[in-house]
Amino acid sequence: MSAAPETPAPLLINGEAATGHGPILDAIDPATGRVSARYQTATSADIEAAVKAARESFARGTWRDKKPHERATVLFEASRRIAEAAEVLAHLQMSQNGKTLKECRTQAKAAAATFRYFASVCETMEGDLTTPRGDYLSMTVYEPIGVVALITPWNSPLAMEAQKLAPALAAGNSVILKPSEITPGTGLALGRIVCEAGLPPGVLNVLNGTGLAVGDPLVRHKEIGMISFTGGTATGRAIARIAAERLIPVALELGGKSPHIVFADADLDRAVDGVFGGIFDALGQSCVAGSRLFVERPLYRSLVDRLIERANALMLGPPADPASGQGPLASFAHRERVEHYVELARADGGRILAGGARPEDASLSQGAYYRPTIIEGLANEARACREEIFGPVLCVLPFDHETDLIKQANDSAYGLAAGLWTRDISKAWRVARQLEAGTVWINTYRELSIATPFGGMKESGLGREKGRQGVRLYASTKSIYLSLAGGA
Ligand code: NDP
Repeated sequence: MSAAPETPAPLLINGEAATGHGPILDAIDPATGRVSARYQTATSADIEAAVKAARESFARGTWRDKKPHERATVLFEASRRIAEAAEVLAHLQMSQNGKTLKECRTQAKAAAATFRYFASVCETMEGDLTTPRGDYLSMTVYEPIGVVALITPWNSPLAMEAQKLAPALAAGNSVILKPSEITPGTGLALGRIVCEAGLPPGVLNVLNGTGLAVGDPLVRHKEIGMISFTGGTATGRAIARIAAERLIPVALELGGKSPHIVFADADLDRAVDGVFGGIFDALGQSCVAGSRLFVERPLYRSLVDRLIERANALMLGPPADPASGQGPLASFAHRERVEHYVELARADGGRILAGGARPEDASLSQGAYYRPTIIEGLANEARACREEIFGPVLCVLPFDHETDLIKQANDSAYGLAAGLWTRDISKAWRVARQLEAGTVWINTYRELSIATPFGGMKESGLGREKGRQGVRLYASTKSIYLSLAGGA
């Protein structure tokens, strides 16, 4: 499992492997605590070189000016190559963020599907001929913005990097990807594959390094015309401030504290599966994790008891082992953060019904493992119910009345996602429309499609990724009036 660390790995600038000049970054395998690979990071000179390469490629028009079907051909080829490399990509992600191999495989396939989807969107993109109100033709066209910075987190890098790269490239931009320092490998690997699929040099560049050393200078760089960011709300807000100062567009996919609601008339078996997977799949390291569970009182005890049973039975283990239900958390620092929140919950009077500790199994002691945790007895105002823990911690709260439930569910700074379980379709629709969330699931959870817009309300973000309009996020709208007066 622990191959000798690869050292040092290069950056990707102007279509070529480049030697970074910054400090070496160790990628730690959270299942073992060992270094899985070593990466060179970028200095300000490397950032300049990448921005220059991207800017010049855009100015040359080698990608921007290609016809959409020509760009689509390259994106289709990228999709094919990503699918071919899925197994390698899956192992790479697993060795850096500890997600199970099964989930990493799914995400590698999803990355290929995302490129295929945006290749199709690219091939079928249209401008608009708008209804004239005078003697002219009025057209609206969608043009690439220029050089776009894509900044990604560690929880699902394969999926998220593809989700930003594919539409940004489909729109005709040149891009610079800055992956998380926890998972520097997948962005570099994806970048190489997409370049080899036929992108002209300079159109796709990858810079590894920390948020402060590489992310922040990129966001401030005068040649960067747009920023697309996924990560924590505090970082997103800091980036938005800089973007506001520079008056450039920014797309932000931020955190969540999603309410998951079970009414007394729900199908109990399906609700247990949905609620359990909604928080404990990926160990809650998912922006849409259903981390606040509201259960209508008549069903409360039976549902919570079933969840406790499932949590205690969840098998933690090496992520490559098919018998492991879940692996470790993505990093040791992150586990400490999760533990801190569980201590806060205890101090606020929360009763730990399951988990609340590292596993006792000695064979897991070298990894960043943490048991799935269920807490009751907290008020919705407690910090563990208000702040994003991003870990395997479920806070359960009973409710009696729909009006009060909706008030509590919406009493959050976040508005990314929500789920509800009921057999009453009128109630489902009524409640779904009142929930302040960018995505609402009814009798299902964590169902995500590249064809469906995704993003958050309130402090969960700005803009919508995915779907046909996902390309427009990376485009500038231009309206052209062509006079028909005094015709030839
Ligand atoms: P961050 O928001 O800090 O990091 C996300 C990305 O932004 C990383 O590539 C990071 O670089 C980069 N970054 C950090 N600071 C800056 C900056 N000032 N300017 C530009 N880029 C920057 O997330 P964390 O990894 O620290 O996680 C913190 C919390 O955020 C999590 O516990 C969770 O609550 C939330 N989160 C939400 C995610 C989501 O999907 N919505 C995903 C990940 C985290 P680097 O890490 O290399 O320093």
